Amino acid sequence: MAIISPTKTPMREQPPEERIRNFREVPFGYTPDEAVSEAQRCLQCKKPLCITGCPVEIDIQGFIALLVQKKFKEGISKIKEKNILPAICGRVCPQEEQCEKQCIVGKKNEPVAIGRLERFLADWERNEGEIEIPHQPESTGKKVAIVGAGPAGITAAADLAKIGHKVDMFEALHQPGGVLVYGIPEFRLPKEIVFKEIDYLRKLGVNVYTDTVIGMIKSIDELQESYDAVFLGTGAGLPWFLKVPGENLNGIYSANEYLTRANLMKAYLFPKYKTPIIKRKRVATVGGGNVAMDCARTALRLGAKESILIYRRAREQMPARAEEIHHAEQEGIIFHLLSNPAAFYGDKNGWVREAECIKMELGEPDESGRRRPVPIEGANFMVSIDVVIIAIGNSPNPLIHSTTKDIEVTKWGTIITDPATGKTSKRGVFAGGDVATGAATVILAMGAGKIAARGIHDYLQTGIW
Ligand SMILES: Cc1cc2nc3c(=O)[nH]c(=O)nc-3n(C[C@H](O)[C@H](O)[C@H](O)COP(=O)(O)OP(=O)(O)OC[C@H]3O[C@@H](n4cnc5c(N)ncnc54)[C@H](O)[C@@H]3O)c2cc1C
Ligand code: SF4
Repeated sequence: MAIISPTKTPMREQPPEERIRNFREVPFGYTPDEAVSEAQRCLQCKKPLCITGCPVEIDIQGFIALLVQKKFKEGISKIKEKNILPAICGRVCPQEEQCEKQCIVGKKNEPVAIGRLERFLADWERNEGEIEIPHQPESTGKKVAIVGAGPAGITAAADLAKIGHKVDMFEALHQPGGVLVYGIPEFRLPKEIVFKEIDYLRKLGVNVYTDTVIGMIKSIDELQESYDAVFLGTGAGLPWFLKVPGENLNGIYSANEYLTRANLMKAYLFPKYKTPIIKRKRVATVGGGNVAMDCARTALRLGAKESILIYRRAREQMPARAEEIHHAEQEGIIFHLLSNPAAFYGDKNGWVREAECIKMELGEPDESGRRRPVPIEGANFMVSIDVVIIAIGNSPNPLIHSTTKDIEVTKWGTIITDPATGKTSKRGVFAGGDVATGAATVILAMGAGKIAARGIHDYLQTGIW
């Protein structure tokens, strides 16, 4: 038996001192030789546990076997049987918590780099030219409206179009893609990749209407007059705040606003693009997830001398992907762990200048299973700052459910759905992704889009609710 390298085949990337001056993607991806060499680390297990860790059950063992044989076209087709966004998932999925966590090689060594291999095949296909469009079946004569063009909506739309339903998609922003476009920065997920995926959707016959806020321009009831079913994939775009004194000072952003300015509105190219963003020397981001890492790393690229991350738990409890934390550390983000802002103070013109933070310690686990941060009395300290970004979480915007009768929501504002079908409490209306689960992950949103597409298809065929 060949000797397996204990570590993953490394992926080349821009060096930290260079990349903090640009918005280009950090890792370069594998070459074909590197990909094959990494694929050869797979043991082709009889019981491939990796698949049980994948929320959309990609045949991981199968695509890796094809990759070893350099059958790249067949390999990407195998992935696409289950996942229509592999170039995106290969880049942003938390593989260390999913497929790679279960990989048998990972019991003693580093697991097979499944995410990097998925990314390699998707990039190979894109660079080869035309992406294969599946054969279009005959029209079923049924019409479905998809509200929200994020991963949940895109997946539901593609699956429904592929079985012959007529699909129209309505997106509030001027670009489809959801968080993939307005939230996750270019240096982690080049937008060209997302736009290619949207092109694929259009080629499947899906009409995408942008600048269309459902709940304002049209209600769900009005949509139901023209469509046989409606899917709500409107995400969780309403930011949370700390609710501490001074939080409305100038220079304090929600992560959503900061990242939307920087990504979707291209504020890093201001004044060529019209949207400005405040660029100052000391930027503090509050939070410990992917969103917080993206903000802190964006601030550096916008010219901050110091980008500080304030997080109330320890490094081990950070919800961000391991790779994002690693990249943030390499780039020199300063971590103030076990710390939480208690108040912000400004100058006479109302601009934020200081954060008063409380030192925390870890207590008993809370409902999330993570140890609860407990303030240490009297252990307050000051941090001087000129910009603050609050990245502590989001919930769904109430617009849809406040303008639609009969849609039941939880106390957190998430739409209640049947997890097996995506059905909501309103006949003919389905939902999935962050709007139903609260802020989660791309692959879970896609999984929910798939389930709802099946639920919608069943409903359209049988009429049974
Ligand atoms: C900055 C950031 C970084 C992230 N990083 C990662 C990561 O690395 N890995 C990962 O797996 N997950 C990550 N996530 C989480 C992931 O992006 C989300 O879980 C996922 O995008 C949810 O998909 P969705 O389709 O449910 O919603 P969204 O992606 O939020 O899309 C919803 C869409 O609906 C539109 N919409 C909302 N209301 C209306 C309306 N009334 N009418 C019409 N359209 C409407 C919105 O404009 C949006 O385009 C990150 C999230 C953020 C914010
Ligand atoms: S568990 Fe790991 S080694 Fe086994 S088939 Fe999956 S990727 Fe290959």
